[in-house]
Amino acid sequence: MHRIESMQKPVNLGPGLSDFGDFCQCPMESRYSSSSFVVSRVFRSARDPDGNERPNDNGRRPRNAAVVHQPDNYSLTQRLTPFNAMHIKSGVAAVIGLAAVPALAVSPAICFELTLTLPGKVFLRNSGDYNTHNQYWSNRQDGLSPCCIVAPSSTNDVKKAMNAIRKWKAPFTVKSGGHVPFPSSNIEDGVTIDLVSLNQLQLSGDKSVISVGPGNRWRDVANHLLPHNLAAIGGRVGDIGVGGFVLGGGISWFSGRYGWACDNVRSFEVVLASGNVVTASATQHPALYKALRGGGGPNFGIVTRFDLETIPQGDIWYKESLYSPASTSDVVDQFCDTAVNGIAADVDAHPVMFAAYQPSLGGVITQVFRWHAVPPPTSATVPAVFQPFEAIPDLMNKNATLTVPAMLDVYPDPAGFRKGWWDTSIAADNPEVLKDVITNYGTWVAANFADKPEVVAVLLIQPVAHSTILQMQKYGGNSMNLSPSLATQIKINTYVTWADQALDTFVGNAATQLVSQTEQIAIAGEAFDGGFRYMNYAERTQDVYGRYGPGALAQLQAAASTYDPNQVLKKQWKGYFKV
Ligand SMILES: Cc1cc2nc3c(=O)[nH]c(=O)nc-3n(C[C@H](O)[C@H](O)[C@H](O)COP(=O)(O)OP(=O)(O)OC[C@H]3O[C@@H](n4cnc5c(N)ncnc54)[C@H](O)[C@@H]3O)c2cc1C
Repeated sequence: MHRIESMQKPVNLGPGLSDFGDFCQCPMESRYSSSSFVVSRVFRSARDPDGNERPNDNGRRPRNAAVVHQPDNYSLTQRLTPFNAMHIKSGVAAVIGLAAVPALAVSPAICFELTLTLPGKVFLRNSGDYNTHNQYWSNRQDGLSPCCIVAPSSTNDVKKAMNAIRKWKAPFTVKSGGHVPFPSSNIEDGVTIDLVSLNQLQLSGDKSVISVGPGNRWRDVANHLLPHNLAAIGGRVGDIGVGGFVLGGGISWFSGRYGWACDNVRSFEVVLASGNVVTASATQHPALYKALRGGGGPNFGIVTRFDLETIPQGDIWYKESLYSPASTSDVVDQFCDTAVNGIAADVDAHPVMFAAYQPSLGGVITQVFRWHAVPPPTSATVPAVFQPFEAIPDLMNKNATLTVPAMLDVYPDPAGFRKGWWDTSIAADNPEVLKDVITNYGTWVAANFADKPEVVAVLLIQPVAHSTILQMQKYGGNSMNLSPSLATQIKINTYVTWADQALDTFVGNAATQLVSQTEQIAIAGEAFDGGFRYMNYAERTQDVYGRYGPGALAQLQAAASTYDPNQVLKKQWKGYFKV
């Protein structure tokens, strides 16, 4: 969904593997020795578990300093008898195929325990498997180095991992597709649970529900459903993970008719902080069910299965057009009209717009994508709801009718670079306000990034149609509590990519300032309806829950208290949004 970026300047997108080569340089006193098996230490590097740089006592960046994580009721002497120390050592050696345990690179106690509990599914630094698992879409995550990565392949494995992590009070996080731009589904030190091997796909007998493991990407789901002429309410890019997408909301091509992905989940299987496994649905654990629909995962538990409703679906039609700055006013008028009136009349329509400042082209250019879930007779035929766009002269356009899996690959946004996005919303019924927002964005880019050509900042503009908001009320409503009386909103997402880590703070401050200016413009133009912020497009520093509808935060906090009464997740699951 991030198109203009690649048009704005050519970008060299590599796999972005990070360099973990220095982990072996850990101090000798921390190395695994035959006399004291578990050094109860987690080596830490220069970052805290959230990926922020941390100072040490003398102000210098520490390297492999030690921090203690001990399990509840832990007794070193009781636990580390010569026998179990021997047993554990030989177990570790067997598992990772090393003959000489003392030569083993050091790992913290939690990782040793996980290695024993889940043999063959725990990967230590400097191993090829570790590097394979430790890949993320944004270099802000890709550059982190967890102590170990666990890849459970069953719900029971997740339960075992959760129990060990809780016992050792270890910091951890969970990865599904790894597409959050900031440190969140990866962790510096601590444990990353990579759900990639939970990749089950099971269509129910009546084909109304597909049970999906969080290790799947949307491409996998779409391919599984294609032969049945079915689809799920899922992502618009094939690489996106099922887990984070659904738990944060999930905007789909089909959202005008069905709501967001989270509104179409029949039930979740969840491993709670206690290690207990529950099914949450409209009738079982309804507060947890509601919380997981838009409230994110880290407050509530690790979802090991999503039971998603299917919809009948054949091919999808789409058209994209690129417009010069001279057309921006007409494009915005038409875009807002389609968002408010077009989708109301035709819920299968799905428009999205990008705005990109291009001084060489005279200002802000726009690009509008139109999808329709009921294809016209030929791909050259434009559905009635989008025909007004045909009157606006464009610089280029293309269109096609494709299967859902093929459509998922039309706009890939590969891994690489540092990335971030900052979100807000304005009312859709005042295009003049959106025009002012876009003009201000152009001024902001020129002011902040004229001397930083490596920074690419675009606006991603998309409607939350009133018909979508009505669908959000299904099954007791999702956790965002957007009122059915709320009119169509336009989500405005500031999406930035850059290369140099030294620019992180500058970019973050600038983007925060732009969101603030956008909201001020909306308030002045009486187009501010509370500024809903969508978790899946928000930066960590943004208050997301505070922008949900009335009562949402209190309900989410109550659910977190019920399902994580000892605040295990609150304290140990690092990153992302916390109630
Ligand atoms: C190229 C691209 C295209 C996108 N397109 C869309 C789009 O069309 N529509 C849309 O709405 N959004 C879109 N997004 C945003 C996307 O929804 C979010 O980035 C989302 O968080 C990605 O999910 P993930 O599983 O890949 O992320 P992850 O980084 O793996 O996870 C995100 C968060 O959820 C937690 N989590 C993951 N799995 C679980 C689980 N099973 N249980 C509990 N917690 C879990 C993680 O710990 C993390 O905090 C897009 C993003 C990108 C990069």
